[in-house]
Amino acid sequence: MADVKIGFVFMPQTQSLIDLAAIHWTTNSYWQAINHSLAHVISRYPTQLRASVATAQQINHWFQELFPLMEELCAATCAHCPDPCCLSARAWIDFRDLLYWHLAQIDIPAQQLRARADDTCRYFSPKGCTLPRSSRPWICTWYLCATQTACGRRQFPHKLQYLTTLRAKLKKARGQLEEAFIAVVT
Ligand code: SF4
Ligand code: SF4
Repeated sequence: MADVKIGFVFMPQTQSLIDLAAIHWTTNSYWQAINHSLAHVISRYPTQLRASVATAQQINHWFQELFPLMEELCAATCAHCPDPCCLSARAWIDFRDLLYWHLAQIDIPAQQLRARADDTCRYFSPKGCTLPRSSRPWICTWYLCATQTACGRRQFPHKLQYLTTLRAKLKKARGQLEEAFIAVVT
């Protein structure tokens, strides 16, 4: 798939600017290039991107509310899981993840999750994910398996409802962040 150049940022050429069926920046050189170019573009538009920085900070705030709920849910389910989803997850870091991390100044993982489509995530360990929650891609936070959903409904339904509300807010805000950024830099 061809890339389009927006400012100095190379992005996948798709209608939504995010191709959910493709992994990007799988080599170290591409990973360095996208992150350096994104940081460079952001540094060129400090005034124009002020609202986007505020949106990224709001996203960070919602994540901080979400993570304890996820911790509670994972503690009740993942520790004894016979088939950890991370071993077979087809997850990767996308442009919205990178944009949010750059704007909110969140630590960025050293590499994309996988080099090839059939690789296991490089951040998986027998004790779980080795990345801090704030540095995991959205797909890893968004995903609730059937066991977790059932457990949440049974043990803490109100928290599960709040978690669902937060996820909806985050999903919408991530899209708005990308749209606002594209509007500024193109
Ligand atoms: S999220 Fe679900 S499938 Fe994944 S490790 Fe936890 S319990 Fe297992
Ligand atoms: S980044 Fe962490 S949570 Fe996401 S797939 Fe990899 S090991 Fe699992």
